[in-house]
Amino acid sequence: MNVILMGPPGSGKGTQAANLAEKLGVSAVSSGDLFRDHQRRNTELGQLARSYMEKGVYVPDDVTIGMIMEWINDPDHSAGFVLDGFPRTQAQAQALDDALTERGGIDHVVLINVSDDELVRRLGGRIICSECQIPYNLNTSPPAVDGRCEECGGSLYQRDDDKAEVVARRIEVYNEETQPILDYYRRAGILSDVDGEQPVESVGDALRVAVSA
Ligand code: AMP
Repeated sequence: MNVILMGPPGSGKGTQAANLAEKLGVSAVSSGDLFRDHQRRNTELGQLARSYMEKGVYVPDDVTIGMIMEWINDPDHSAGFVLDGFPRTQAQAQALDDALTERGGIDHVVLINVSDDELVRRLGGRIICSECQIPYNLNTSPPAVDGRCEECGGSLYQRDDDKAEVVARRIEVYNEETQPILDYYRRAGILSDVDGEQPVESVGDALRVAVSA
């Protein structure tokens, strides 16, 4: 089962991708998390990605496609996947189609819809775990102990690109560069919409219905 979760930054893709993948018995991957992991390890790719991410713009396609293809082609991920944050451009969508022609193609694309005002509110309060990447929200779901992850005890921090000036740019880039591939998947008849402003559990239920899990 190959599923893509789409939606603007702050729509809840990360939280939902992990839950959905567990239900489906496949792996979840977030391109943003892979980039952040490279940054933590200070690899060449991480340094390159940082220069784009801190501005709120996309990392070039060749770099992003190479990184995700390596993950997809790993034998540990052969049962399928839930992709979070990839593809985001036409070239990435094309590369994914090409890579999956002999592996059953994409089964479902689900778009999590959230209004711009709500995205700005959510991203402004978001803090994430530096170890396991779990997100918390200072307004809606704060951690039990200030600054500490409830799952692994890691320290919580605000991503540089969740600061107000970068958030606006990220939403703009999403609208310009990623909206067109939604039309591409809609025309292919594999895209369904989910209301992302419901409670987290209801979004999860709607996603499972959308992929018939
Ligand atoms: P995310 O964690 O999904 O919000 O991604 C954080 C940042 O990583 C984005 O603003 C981009 O700079 C970069 N990024 C993540 N995924 C992609 C992608 N598929 N294509 C290009 N850049 C990406």
